[in-house]
Amino acid sequence: MGDETMAARAPAGTHDVLWPESTRWESLVAAFAVQVEAAGYGLAHTPIFEDVRVFKRGIGEDSDVVGKEMYEFEDRGGRALALRPEGTAPVVRAFIQHRPPVPWKAWYVTPAFRYERPQRGRYRQHHQLGVEVLGITDADLDVEVVSLADRFFRSLGLASFDLALNSMGDDVCRPGYLETLSAFLAEHRDELCPEHRGRLEANPLRCLDCKREECRRTTLGAPHLVDHLCEPCRLHLARVCGGLEALGVPYSFDHRLVRGFDYYTRTTFEFSSTALASAQNGIGGGGRYDRLVEMLGGPPTPGIGFGIGIERLLLACDAEGVYPVAPAALDAYVVDVAGGEWARDLTAELRAAGLRADRAFEGRSMKSQLKSADRSGARVALIIGPDEVVGGTVSMRRLRGTGDQRSLSRSEVVDAVRDTREDQS
Ligand SMILES: [Zn+2]
Ligand SMILES: [Zn+2]
Repeated sequence: MGDETMAARAPAGTHDVLWPESTRWESLVAAFAVQVEAAGYGLAHTPIFEDVRVFKRGIGEDSDVVGKEMYEFEDRGGRALALRPEGTAPVVRAFIQHRPPVPWKAWYVTPAFRYERPQRGRYRQHHQLGVEVLGITDADLDVEVVSLADRFFRSLGLASFDLALNSMGDDVCRPGYLETLSAFLAEHRDELCPEHRGRLEANPLRCLDCKREECRRTTLGAPHLVDHLCEPCRLHLARVCGGLEALGVPYSFDHRLVRGFDYYTRTTFEFSSTALASAQNGIGGGGRYDRLVEMLGGPPTPGIGFGIGIERLLLACDAEGVYPVAPAALDAYVVDVAGGEWARDLTAELRAAGLRADRAFEGRSMKSQLKSADRSGARVALIIGPDEVVGGTVSMRRLRGTGDQRSLSRSEVVDAVRDTREDQS
Protein backbone atom coordinates (compact mmCIF):
# COMPACT_ATOMS: atom_id res chain seq x y z
CA MET A 1 0.00 0.00 0.00
CA GLY A 2 1.45 3.34 -1.01
CA ASP A 3 1.71 6.28 1.37
CA GLU A 4 -1.11 8.15 -0.31
CA THR A 5 -3.52 5.26 0.19
CA MET A 6 -2.54 5.06 3.86
CA ALA A 7 -3.25 8.75 4.35
CA ALA A 8 -6.77 8.29 2.98
CA ARG A 9 -7.82 5.95 5.79
CA ALA A 10 -9.25 6.90 9.18
CA PRO A 11 -6.67 6.23 11.95
CA ALA A 12 -6.83 2.82 13.67
CA GLY A 13 -9.61 2.65 16.21
CA THR A 14 -11.59 5.56 14.74
CA HIS A 15 -14.55 5.48 12.42
CA ASP A 16 -16.51 7.69 10.09
CA VAL A 17 -20.22 8.21 10.59
CA LEU A 18 -21.77 8.91 7.23
CA TRP A 19 -25.26 9.32 5.88
CA PRO A 20 -27.67 7.54 6.33
CA GLU A 21 -26.26 6.19 9.66
CA SER A 22 -25.47 9.78 10.66
CA THR A 23 -29.21 10.50 10.55
CA ARG A 24 -29.58 8.14 13.47
CA TRP A 25 -26.88 9.99 15.41
CA GLU A 26 -28.52 13.32 14.72
CA SER A 27 -31.84 11.97 15.89
CA LEU A 28 -30.33 10.37 19.01
CA VAL A 29 -28.59 13.57 20.11
CA ALA A 30 -31.76 15.60 19.41
CA ALA A 31 -33.89 13.18 21.45
CA PHE A 32 -31.43 13.42 24.34
CA ALA A 33 -31.37 17.22 24.15
CA VAL A 34 -35.17 17.43 24.25
CA GLN A 35 -35.40 15.17 27.29
CA VAL A 36 -32.66 16.75 29.39
CA GLU A 37 -33.60 20.31 28.47
CA ALA A 38 -37.14 19.51 29.60
CA ALA A 39 -35.54 18.77 33.00
CA GLY A 40 -33.68 22.09 33.17
CA TYR A 41 -30.27 21.13 31.74
CA GLY A 42 -28.42 23.48 29.38
CA LEU A 43 -25.78 22.59 26.78
CA ALA A 44 -22.10 23.03 27.76
CA HIS A 45 -19.44 22.98 25.05
CA THR A 46 -15.88 22.81 26.34
CA PRO A 47 -12.61 22.38 24.39
CA ILE A 48 -11.62 18.96 23.11
CA PHE A 49 -8.26 19.31 24.89
CA GLU A 50 -7.41 20.56 28.36
CA ASP A 51 -4.38 21.09 30.57
CA VAL A 52 -3.30 17.54 31.35
CA ARG A 53 -3.63 18.23 35.08
CA VAL A 54 -7.42 18.52 34.74
CA PHE A 55 -7.47 14.76 34.12
CA LYS A 56 -4.50 13.71 36.24
CA ARG A 57 -5.92 15.36 39.35
CA GLY A 58 -9.52 14.49 38.66
CA ILE A 59 -9.43 10.93 37.40
CA GLY A 60 -6.30 9.84 39.28
CA GLU A 61 -2.80 9.13 38.01
CA ASP A 62 -2.94 5.42 38.80
CA SER A 63 -6.10 4.81 36.76
CA ASP A 64 -5.75 3.01 33.43
CA VAL A 65 -7.40 5.93 31.66
CA VAL A 66 -4.71 8.42 32.74
CA GLY A 67 -1.79 6.00 33.07
CA LYS A 68 -2.18 4.03 29.85
CA GLU A 69 -4.89 5.39 27.58
CA MET A 70 -4.77 9.18 27.50
CA TYR A 71 -3.69 11.08 24.38
CA GLU A 72 -1.16 13.50 25.88
CA PHE A 73 0.82 15.96 23.85
CA GLU A 74 2.87 19.12 24.10
CA ASP A 75 1.71 22.01 21.96
CA ARG A 76 4.02 24.36 20.09
CA GLY A 77 4.16 26.60 23.15
CA GLY A 78 5.36 23.75 25.37
CA ARG A 79 2.05 23.31 27.24
CA ALA A 80 1.19 19.81 28.50
CA LEU A 81 -2.25 19.03 27.11
CA ALA A 82 -4.47 15.99 26.72
CA LEU A 83 -7.42 15.11 24.50
CA ARG A 84 -10.40 14.59 26.76
CA PRO A 85 -10.70 10.91 27.77
CA GLU A 86 -14.12 11.48 29.38
CA GLY A 87 -16.73 14.18 29.79
CA THR A 88 -16.93 15.10 33.46
CA ALA A 89 -13.60 16.70 34.39
CA PRO A 90 -13.76 19.35 31.59
CA VAL A 91 -17.29 20.41 32.59
CA VAL A 92 -16.17 20.70 36.21
CA ARG A 93 -13.13 22.74 35.11
CA ALA A 94 -15.49 25.09 33.24
CA PHE A 95 -17.66 25.37 36.33
CA ILE A 96 -14.68 26.40 38.45
CA GLN A 97 -13.58 28.94 35.86
CA HIS A 98 -16.97 30.61 35.31
CA ARG A 99 -18.69 30.00 38.65
CA PRO A 100 -22.27 29.92 37.34
CA PRO A 101 -24.94 30.08 40.08
CA VAL A 102 -25.73 26.68 41.59
CA PRO A 103 -27.48 24.41 41.06
CA TRP A 104 -25.82 24.29 37.65
CA LYS A 105 -27.28 21.67 35.34
CA ALA A 106 -25.31 21.00 32.17
CA TRP A 107 -25.49 18.45 29.36
CA TYR A 108 -22.92 17.68 26.72
CA VAL A 109 -22.24 15.70 23.57
CA THR A 110 -18.55 15.19 22.86
CA PRO A 111 -15.95 12.91 21.37
CA ALA A 112 -13.72 11.21 23.95
CA PHE A 113 -10.27 9.80 23.24
CA ARG A 114 -8.60 6.73 24.69
CA TYR A 115 -5.68 4.77 23.35
CA GLU A 116 -7.22 1.31 23.70
CA ARG A 117 -6.94 -1.88 21.69
CA PRO A 118 -9.53 -1.33 18.96
CA GLN A 119 -12.42 -3.79 19.02
CA ARG A 120 -16.12 -3.87 18.34
CA GLY A 121 -17.88 -1.17 20.35
CA ARG A 122 -14.58 0.24 21.62
CA TYR A 123 -12.92 3.07 19.76
CA ARG A 124 -9.96 5.39 20.24
CA GLN A 125 -12.35 8.21 19.45
CA HIS A 126 -15.80 7.44 20.75
CA HIS A 127 -18.68 9.76 21.49
CA GLN A 128 -20.50 10.51 24.69
CA LEU A 129 -23.72 12.11 25.78
CA GLY A 130 -23.95 13.13 29.40
CA VAL A 131 -25.21 15.41 32.13
CA GLU A 132 -23.52 17.00 35.16
CA VAL A 133 -25.13 18.84 38.07
CA LEU A 134 -23.05 20.95 40.43
CA GLY A 135 -24.01 22.29 43.84
CA ILE A 136 -26.59 19.84 45.23
CA THR A 137 -26.13 17.07 47.81
CA ASP A 138 -29.82 16.12 47.99
CA ALA A 139 -30.28 12.39 47.27
CA ASP A 140 -33.40 13.21 45.25
CA LEU A 141 -31.07 14.71 42.63
CA ASP A 142 -29.32 11.32 42.36
CA VAL A 143 -32.76 9.85 41.66
CA GLU A 144 -33.42 12.49 39.00
CA VAL A 145 -30.10 11.87 37.26
CA VAL A 146 -30.37 8.07 37.29
CA SER A 147 -33.99 8.10 36.14
CA LEU A 148 -33.18 10.56 33.31
CA ALA A 149 -30.78 7.99 31.84
CA ASP A 150 -33.26 5.16 32.41
CA ARG A 151 -36.08 7.08 30.70
CA PHE A 152 -33.85 8.05 27.80
CA PHE A 153 -32.92 4.40 27.14
CA ARG A 154 -36.58 3.36 27.31
CA SER A 155 -37.62 6.17 24.97
CA LEU A 156 -35.37 4.61 22.31
CA GLY A 157 -37.25 1.35 22.69
CA LEU A 158 -34.60 -0.44 24.77
CA ALA A 159 -35.93 -2.92 27.31
CA SER A 160 -33.09 -5.42 27.84
CA PHE A 161 -30.79 -3.57 30.19
CA ASP A 162 -29.92 -3.65 33.89
CA LEU A 163 -29.12 -0.86 36.31
CA ALA A 164 -26.51 -1.65 38.95
CA LEU A 165 -26.22 0.63 41.97
CA ASN A 166 -23.67 1.03 44.75
CA SER A 167 -22.39 3.56 47.23
CA MET A 168 -18.72 4.54 47.38
CA GLY A 169 -19.15 6.15 50.80
CA ASP A 170 -17.35 9.38 51.56
CA ASP A 171 -14.24 10.70 53.35
CA VAL A 172 -15.77 9.76 56.70
CA CYS A 173 -16.52 6.10 56.11
CA ARG A 174 -14.44 5.01 53.12
CA PRO A 175 -10.98 5.16 54.77
CA GLY A 176 -12.07 2.71 57.50
CA TYR A 177 -13.57 0.40 54.90
CA LEU A 178 -10.43 0.54 52.76
CA GLU A 179 -8.38 -0.60 55.77
CA THR A 180 -10.74 -3.52 56.35
CA LEU A 181 -10.66 -4.39 52.64
CA SER A 182 -6.86 -4.08 52.44
CA ALA A 183 -6.45 -6.35 55.43
CA PHE A 184 -8.72 -8.93 53.80
CA LEU A 185 -6.87 -8.70 50.47
CA ALA A 186 -3.44 -8.85 52.13
CA GLU A 187 -4.46 -12.13 53.73
CA HIS A 188 -5.41 -13.49 50.30
CA ARG A 189 -2.67 -11.75 48.31
CA ASP A 190 -1.39 -14.99 46.73
CA GLU A 191 -4.83 -15.78 45.37
CA LEU A 192 -5.21 -12.45 43.49
CA CYS A 193 -4.42 -11.95 39.80
CA PRO A 194 -0.75 -11.15 39.03
CA GLU A 195 -1.45 -7.43 38.43
CA HIS A 196 -3.24 -6.89 41.72
CA ARG A 197 -0.88 -9.05 43.75
CA GLY A 198 1.75 -6.42 42.89
CA ARG A 199 -0.18 -3.15 43.25
CA LEU A 200 -2.69 -3.92 45.93
CA GLU A 201 -1.86 -0.87 48.05
CA ALA A 202 -2.32 1.73 45.30
CA ASN A 203 -6.06 1.17 45.16
CA PRO A 204 -7.55 -1.92 46.80
CA LEU A 205 -11.00 -1.10 45.34
CA ARG A 206 -9.73 -2.01 41.87
CA CYS A 207 -9.56 -5.69 42.91
CA LEU A 208 -13.33 -5.64 43.35
CA ASP A 209 -14.09 -4.79 39.73
CA CYS A 210 -11.15 -6.77 38.30
CA LYS A 211 -12.50 -9.07 35.58
CA ARG A 212 -9.90 -11.81 36.08
CA GLU A 213 -11.07 -15.09 37.53
CA GLU A 214 -8.52 -15.11 40.41
CA CYS A 215 -9.63 -11.71 41.72
CA ARG A 216 -13.33 -12.44 41.25
CA ARG A 217 -13.07 -15.70 43.17
CA THR A 218 -10.93 -14.25 45.94
CA THR A 219 -13.12 -11.20 46.51
CA LEU A 220 -16.34 -13.23 46.82
CA GLY A 221 -15.92 -13.17 50.57
CA ALA A 222 -14.55 -9.59 50.74
CA PRO A 223 -16.28 -7.07 53.01
CA HIS A 224 -18.84 -4.83 51.25
CA LEU A 225 -18.66 -1.04 51.40
CA VAL A 226 -22.45 -0.78 51.89
CA ASP A 227 -22.04 -2.58 55.22
CA HIS A 228 -19.49 0.02 56.38
CA LEU A 229 -21.26 3.28 55.47
CA CYS A 230 -21.52 6.07 58.02
CA GLU A 231 -25.03 7.18 59.01
CA PRO A 232 -25.31 10.12 56.54
CA CYS A 233 -24.11 7.91 53.64
CA ARG A 234 -26.50 5.14 54.68
CA LEU A 235 -29.45 7.56 54.81
CA HIS A 236 -28.43 9.04 51.44
CA LEU A 237 -28.39 5.60 49.86
CA ALA A 238 -31.73 4.65 51.42
CA ARG A 239 -33.31 7.82 50.02
CA VAL A 240 -31.90 7.07 46.54
CA CYS A 241 -33.27 3.52 46.63
CA GLY A 242 -36.66 4.72 47.85
CA GLY A 243 -36.79 7.34 45.10
CA LEU A 244 -35.94 4.88 42.33
CA GLU A 245 -38.62 2.52 43.61
CA ALA A 246 -41.17 5.36 43.74
CA LEU A 247 -40.40 6.27 40.12
CA GLY A 248 -40.48 2.66 38.99
CA VAL A 249 -36.81 2.49 37.98
CA PRO A 250 -35.65 -1.11 38.46
CA TYR A 251 -32.14 -1.58 39.87
CA SER A 252 -30.03 -4.07 41.73
CA PHE A 253 -27.14 -3.68 44.15
CA ASP A 254 -23.67 -4.50 42.96
CA HIS A 255 -21.01 -4.21 45.63
CA ARG A 256 -18.34 -4.70 42.94
CA LEU A 257 -19.40 -1.54 41.16
CA VAL A 258 -16.58 0.86 42.10
CA ARG A 259 -15.98 2.44 38.69
CA GLY A 260 -12.51 3.39 37.53
CA PHE A 261 -12.12 7.00 38.62
CA ASP A 262 -10.95 8.32 41.96
CA TYR A 263 -13.47 11.13 42.13
CA TYR A 264 -16.60 9.14 42.89
CA THR A 265 -18.34 9.42 46.27
CA ARG A 266 -21.61 7.89 47.47
CA THR A 267 -23.96 6.95 44.59
CA THR A 268 -22.41 5.12 41.64
CA PHE A 269 -24.42 3.41 38.93
CA GLU A 270 -24.00 1.60 35.66
CA PHE A 271 -26.39 0.52 32.93
CA SER A 272 -25.55 -2.61 30.96
CA SER A 273 -27.32 -4.08 27.98
CA THR A 274 -28.28 -7.72 28.41
CA ALA A 275 -28.54 -7.96 24.62
CA LEU A 276 -24.76 -7.44 24.20
CA ALA A 277 -21.85 -9.75 25.10
CA SER A 278 -20.82 -9.16 28.69
CA ALA A 279 -17.31 -7.82 28.03
CA GLN A 280 -18.69 -4.88 26.02
CA ASN A 281 -22.15 -4.31 27.43
CA GLY A 282 -21.82 -1.06 29.42
CA ILE A 283 -24.10 1.53 27.82
CA GLY A 284 -23.81 4.28 30.40
CA GLY A 285 -22.96 5.08 33.96
CA GLY A 286 -21.92 7.69 36.41
CA GLY A 287 -22.11 8.78 39.97
CA ARG A 288 -21.67 11.40 42.59
CA TYR A 289 -18.34 13.22 42.86
CA ASP A 290 -18.61 15.49 45.87
CA ARG A 291 -14.85 16.12 46.04
CA LEU A 292 -13.95 16.61 42.37
CA VAL A 293 -14.45 20.41 42.30
CA GLU A 294 -12.03 20.75 45.23
CA MET A 295 -9.56 18.32 43.65
CA LEU A 296 -9.47 20.60 40.61
CA GLY A 297 -8.92 23.71 42.72
CA GLY A 298 -12.48 25.02 43.18
CA PRO A 299 -14.57 25.65 46.30
CA PRO A 300 -16.16 22.60 47.99
CA THR A 301 -19.11 21.81 45.69
CA PRO A 302 -20.96 18.52 45.36
CA GLY A 303 -21.68 17.08 41.93
CA ILE A 304 -23.22 14.16 40.10
CA GLY A 305 -23.54 13.08 36.49
CA PHE A 306 -23.54 10.30 33.94
CA GLY A 307 -22.03 9.56 30.55
CA ILE A 308 -23.50 7.43 27.78
CA GLY A 309 -21.40 5.97 24.94
CA ILE A 310 -23.21 6.64 21.68
CA GLU A 311 -21.56 3.83 19.66
CA ARG A 312 -22.25 1.23 22.34
CA LEU A 313 -25.79 2.46 22.82
CA LEU A 314 -26.52 2.09 19.10
CA LEU A 315 -25.05 -1.43 19.17
CA ALA A 316 -27.48 -2.23 21.99
CA CYS A 317 -30.33 -0.79 19.90
CA ASP A 318 -29.27 -2.99 16.97
CA ALA A 319 -29.05 -6.03 19.22
CA GLU A 320 -32.62 -5.41 20.37
CA GLY A 321 -33.78 -4.42 16.89
CA VAL A 322 -35.03 -1.02 18.07
CA TYR A 323 -34.49 2.64 17.14
CA PRO A 324 -34.28 2.33 13.39
CA VAL A 325 -34.14 5.86 12.04
CA ALA A 326 -34.97 6.35 8.39
CA PRO A 327 -33.56 9.50 6.85
CA ALA A 328 -36.34 12.01 6.17
CA ALA A 329 -37.33 11.66 2.52
CA LEU A 330 -37.24 14.57 0.13
CA ASP A 331 -40.62 16.10 -0.59
CA ALA A 332 -39.79 16.86 -4.19
CA TYR A 333 -37.12 16.40 -6.84
CA VAL A 334 -37.09 18.90 -9.66
CA VAL A 335 -36.46 17.54 -13.16
CA ASP A 336 -35.77 20.34 -15.61
CA VAL A 337 -34.86 19.67 -19.23
CA ALA A 338 -35.67 23.21 -20.33
CA GLY A 339 -32.46 24.98 -19.42
CA GLY A 340 -32.31 24.70 -15.61
CA GLU A 341 -33.68 28.11 -14.66
CA TRP A 342 -36.95 26.61 -13.40
CA ALA A 343 -35.07 24.05 -11.34
CA ARG A 344 -32.91 26.80 -9.85
CA ASP A 345 -35.86 29.01 -8.91
CA LEU A 346 -38.33 26.30 -7.92
CA THR A 347 -36.00 24.44 -5.51
CA ALA A 348 -35.21 27.78 -3.82
CA GLU A 349 -38.95 28.50 -3.52
CA LEU A 350 -39.75 25.04 -2.13
CA ARG A 351 -36.92 25.21 0.43
CA ALA A 352 -37.96 28.71 1.51
CA ALA A 353 -41.43 27.27 2.15
CA GLY A 354 -39.88 24.66 4.51
CA LEU A 355 -40.07 21.74 2.09
CA ARG A 356 -37.22 19.34 1.33
CA ALA A 357 -36.24 19.66 -2.27
CA ASP A 358 -33.35 18.69 -4.49
CA ARG A 359 -32.68 18.78 -8.23
CA ALA A 360 -30.46 17.47 -10.99
CA PHE A 361 -27.60 19.54 -12.38
CA GLU A 362 -25.64 19.76 -15.62
CA GLY A 363 -28.59 19.52 -18.00
CA ARG A 364 -28.81 15.74 -18.11
CA SER A 365 -31.45 13.89 -20.14
CA MET A 366 -35.04 13.43 -18.92
CA LYS A 367 -34.44 9.71 -18.44
CA SER A 368 -31.29 10.26 -16.38
CA GLN A 369 -32.90 12.99 -14.24
CA LEU A 370 -35.96 10.82 -13.55
CA LYS A 371 -33.66 8.02 -12.47
CA SER A 372 -31.95 10.38 -10.00
CA ALA A 373 -35.37 11.54 -8.79
CA ASP A 374 -36.35 7.95 -8.11
CA ARG A 375 -33.08 7.13 -6.35
CA SER A 376 -33.37 10.23 -4.16
CA GLY A 377 -36.39 8.76 -2.37
CA ALA A 378 -38.41 11.90 -3.09
CA ARG A 379 -42.19 11.62 -2.91
CA VAL A 380 -42.84 13.52 -6.14
CA ALA A 381 -40.95 14.64 -9.21
CA LEU A 382 -41.67 18.12 -10.53
CA ILE A 383 -41.08 17.93 -14.25
CA ILE A 384 -40.35 20.88 -16.54
CA GLY A 385 -39.97 19.91 -20.18
CA PRO A 386 -40.54 21.87 -23.40
CA ASP A 387 -44.37 21.45 -23.20
CA GLU A 388 -44.44 22.76 -19.63
CA VAL A 389 -42.36 25.79 -20.57
CA VAL A 390 -44.75 26.64 -23.40
CA GLY A 391 -47.81 26.15 -21.18
CA GLY A 392 -46.22 27.81 -18.11
CA THR A 393 -46.99 24.71 -16.04
CA VAL A 394 -45.19 22.08 -13.95
CA SER A 395 -46.04 18.35 -14.08
CA MET A 396 -46.10 16.70 -10.68
CA ARG A 397 -45.57 12.94 -10.78
CA ARG A 398 -45.96 10.62 -7.79
CA LEU A 399 -42.81 8.54 -7.45
CA ARG A 400 -44.28 6.23 -4.82
CA GLY A 401 -47.49 4.21 -5.14
CA THR A 402 -49.84 5.16 -7.98
CA GLY A 403 -47.36 7.10 -10.09
CA ASP A 404 -50.14 9.42 -11.28
CA GLN A 405 -49.23 12.72 -12.84
CA ARG A 406 -51.00 16.05 -13.01
CA SER A 407 -50.38 19.47 -14.41
CA LEU A 408 -50.07 22.45 -12.06
CA SER A 409 -49.75 26.15 -12.61
CA ARG A 410 -46.52 27.53 -11.21
CA SER A 411 -48.29 29.26 -8.30
CA GLU A 412 -49.93 26.00 -7.17
CA VAL A 413 -46.70 23.99 -6.86
CA VAL A 414 -45.71 24.69 -3.24
CA ASP A 415 -49.18 23.95 -1.86
CA ALA A 416 -49.58 20.85 -4.00
CA VAL A 417 -46.26 19.42 -2.79
CA ARG A 418 -47.19 20.22 0.80
CA ASP A 419 -50.52 18.39 0.34
CA THR A 420 -48.70 15.21 -0.68
CA ARG A 421 -46.88 15.38 2.67
CA GLU A 422 -50.18 15.34 4.53
CA ASP A 423 -51.55 12.47 2.43
CA GLN A 424 -48.72 10.37 3.77
CA SER A 425 -49.02 11.05 7.46
ZN1 LIG B 1 -7.13 -8.49 39.53
ZN1 LIG C 1 -19.99 8.07 54.78
